[in-house]
Amino acid sequence: MTSLDTTRYDYTAPVSADLFARAQRVTPGGVNSPVRAFRAVGGTPRFMAQGQGPWLTDADGRRYVDLVASWGPMILGHAHPAVVEAVTAAARRGFSFGTPTEGELDLAQEIVDRVAPVERVRLVNSGTEAVLSAVRLARGATGRPLVVKFAGCYHGHVDALLASAGSGVATLGLPDTPGVTTGAAADTIVLPYNDVAAVEAVFAERGSDIAVVVSEAAPGNMGVVPPRDGFNAALRRITAAHGALLLLDEVMTGFRVSRSGWYGLDPVDADLMTFGKVMGGGLPAAAFGGRADLMEQLAPIGPVYQAGTLSGNPVAVAAGLTTLRLCTDDVYARCDQVAVTLRGAASAALFAAGVPHRVQQAGSMFSVFFVPDERQVHDYDDARTQDTAAHRAFFHEMLARGVYLPPSAFESWFVSAALDDEAVERVLDALPAAARAAAAADPADAPSDADSKDAQELQP
Ligand code: PLP
Repeated sequence: MTSLDTTRYDYTAPVSADLFARAQRVTPGGVNSPVRAFRAVGGTPRFMAQGQGPWLTDADGRRYVDLVASWGPMILGHAHPAVVEAVTAAARRGFSFGTPTEGELDLAQEIVDRVAPVERVRLVNSGTEAVLSAVRLARGATGRPLVVKFAGCYHGHVDALLASAGSGVATLGLPDTPGVTTGAAADTIVLPYNDVAAVEAVFAERGSDIAVVVSEAAPGNMGVVPPRDGFNAALRRITAAHGALLLLDEVMTGFRVSRSGWYGLDPVDADLMTFGKVMGGGLPAAAFGGRADLMEQLAPIGPVYQAGTLSGNPVAVAAGLTTLRLCTDDVYARCDQVAVTLRGAASAALFAAGVPHRVQQAGSMFSVFFVPDERQVHDYDDARTQDTAAHRAFFHEMLARGVYLPPSAFESWFVSAALDDEAVERVLDALPAAARAAAAADPADAPSDADSKDAQELQP
């Protein structure tokens, strides 16, 4: 089938199904990260064999327009020739030395130059590692134990941040997964997102014990729920008043929604920031950074220990640095333009089919909430009013029509600058039928609570 052929694929994907059966015999659930298993939408996860520009090709040879972009990193599309060349050249020079290299310095410089509050950067291998290192540093620097986070924000599978709210606003957190001790969760306070009064109440009660408030700069992990105007600034004001630190997590938004990430759109000076995804160009690289006096509390000059055998890996750094350097104003303009087109078309198709929904955006990140009315989704409780059966039907119809969307109703759609007119047309062609499928969905088809919770909260 060519990319212009609008034939519908079968729901079955025999080669992927066979690979998935084999994978489940050697890997828990057949996947290396839970949301990939399609538990929130049912059906066979597609095993991808190749990515080129805006297209993915699965093991059955079917082509999809990719609106997941590896959960964010692939802002230039897949296998961008200049990135491939940089990675190949770096690999020829050697994979890893366990010594400093010039590329690490260049990547750190690129980040420092773009994001004003970041005076020093340390490179790590994943967003999870960035956040856990930054939280340790915050606790070490303040000498305080408590961390405040927001329900629906995801910061990787860091023990202290896999907590859910206790019964009262200032109550200590409960483990969100077996394996996190009550002790680890008890040092975390979980608040409703976008609720300044809740933050103020917690600080009034526990302010002198709070090391850091951690928040996604603009959340994309409960679907896209941007901060209310002034919310991040309020976090800045309240933390500063109590001698606590503010950590804005830009693993998802960083270098994606603008050349300076969410900071470029809403410039609130955090003490610490975390990055990942785009800055690794699709290879494992991430970073945390912030004020020099804080960052210099890290070993080897300070007392807070943090390290990594492959941190600043030269091949990953080559991918990240080349990607960032190619992220020109034109790239962000194209992403914004495509996002406007797709958001508008998705919403129009759903309206035409009579499907209640709301589309929300943070820069070029956006998501479609299958919520019962058009009221704004401000927090995780709002996001959870979604009709997941409608999402499931919508997702599968798009998949059958050659569009790969996030396989969960609680995720952002990620565009790339490689989405050309042909790819966009494919999405536009698929939307009306997918909207009709959502309209016809049977609520009894909603995934079980246990399945959807896994995929919603513990992405990706
Ligand atoms: N922080 C945010 C905001 C994220 O979206 C993610 C992953 O999606 C992480 C941290 C964890 O990053 P990683 O999956 O690279 O560990």
